[in-house]
Amino acid sequence: MLVIKNVNVFDGVNEEIIKNAAIIMENGKIKEIIPQCTKSFEDCEVIDAEGKYASPGFIDCHVHFTLDEIPDKERQLNDQSAGGVIFSNADSYVAFRTVEAARKTLEAGFTTVVDGGGVNYVDVALKDAIKMGYVQGPDYYISGKQITAWPSHFRGLGQETYGPWGMRRMVREQLYWCADQIKIENSAPIRSVGRSLSKSAFTLEEMTAAVEEAHSAGLLVSVHARGSNPVKVSVEAGVDLICHGTGMDDEAIEMILEKGIYVLPTLASPNPNPEQHILNAKSKRVIELLKETGKTQWESIRKAYKAGVKMALSTDSGGVGIKHGENAKEMLRMKEIGMSNFECLKAATSEAAKAMNFKSKGIIKEDYEADIVLLKENPLEKLETVCDVEKVIKGGKIVK
Ligand SMILES: [Zn+2]
Repeated sequence: MLVIKNVNVFDGVNEEIIKNAAIIMENGKIKEIIPQCTKSFEDCEVIDAEGKYASPGFIDCHVHFTLDEIPDKERQLNDQSAGGVIFSNADSYVAFRTVEAARKTLEAGFTTVVDGGGVNYVDVALKDAIKMGYVQGPDYYISGKQITAWPSHFRGLGQETYGPWGMRRMVREQLYWCADQIKIENSAPIRSVGRSLSKSAFTLEEMTAAVEEAHSAGLLVSVHARGSNPVKVSVEAGVDLICHGTGMDDEAIEMILEKGIYVLPTLASPNPNPEQHILNAKSKRVIELLKETGKTQWESIRKAYKAGVKMALSTDSGGVGIKHGENAKEMLRMKEIGMSNFECLKAATSEAAKAMNFKSKGIIKEDYEADIVLLKENPLEKLETVCDVEKVIKGGKIVK
């Protein structure tokens, strides 16, 4: 049994803080929450929160643990052998790197993440390694390889296919690898030459076949979609999650609202104001492209948010220079597009759980999973506190 006492609780759904509470955890679950609790607990492990704030462990609905696209001059020596073989391209190197990504993300308070596509099924191995306790990481849900119409521009990330039966076959292949969701790339990557974001990579017939196959196995379908057409075709085919949602017109937003599905806004992918380490590392041409796409992205998400589209936190960490372990910054970006502190926090907890269909996550409530972060200040008043978590509890165990 583990108890946190003297704690103020943001439960993930209510704007009202539960004051001076005790949270009692047992067998990985939350057993009881006692408000205004003065009880002294004996014969169990007790954390005295001294009036600090608890929140449900954060959930990121879109990461890439097998990617680490952060050009780091200091790391290049390690990445390359004398003969010029790039170690970062070896699956074994990728696997070791994912261990660091998983640890950093967990220590940042993210107790659950969904991977939007892994390299050569390294994500499958990592998922098992975390479950077996070989390495420390969040509850890790995976996509296996992304299903693509064109060669992926990350090595080992995509499975190319075409035609409805090709789509079904690729979904089945991901099922074999124990994917938890199906990820489809329905737009060209941002940095492909001569890209057109108005082209839906797959036809409605292809998308529908993939959705049917995934749903028949109880899996959600998450789609990389930038541009109105890719969004519309995806939504019409019945997908569950629209990732990025760049450049959506009113009709696309209307369709999303009608189906009641979630958008994963990935506001750093790309950010109209790229962070310094990205500016240092990328070429002028790439930076311009990122800025321009970022601008379109933020406008689109702002419009969708105002129209009432449901949003869940997602970072795309690992891609576009987004650092693992800085996932909570996305809440601050969501605030920038107009969301309240309360809405940002829900997007990272209870709403993320709803988006991903997690039945016992994202809320501090009896019988829910004992995934909790301790924050120094009231996040409803000072959202920045989410970027500096003090303690992380996953499955009723202290992991930071
Ligand atoms: Zn992604």
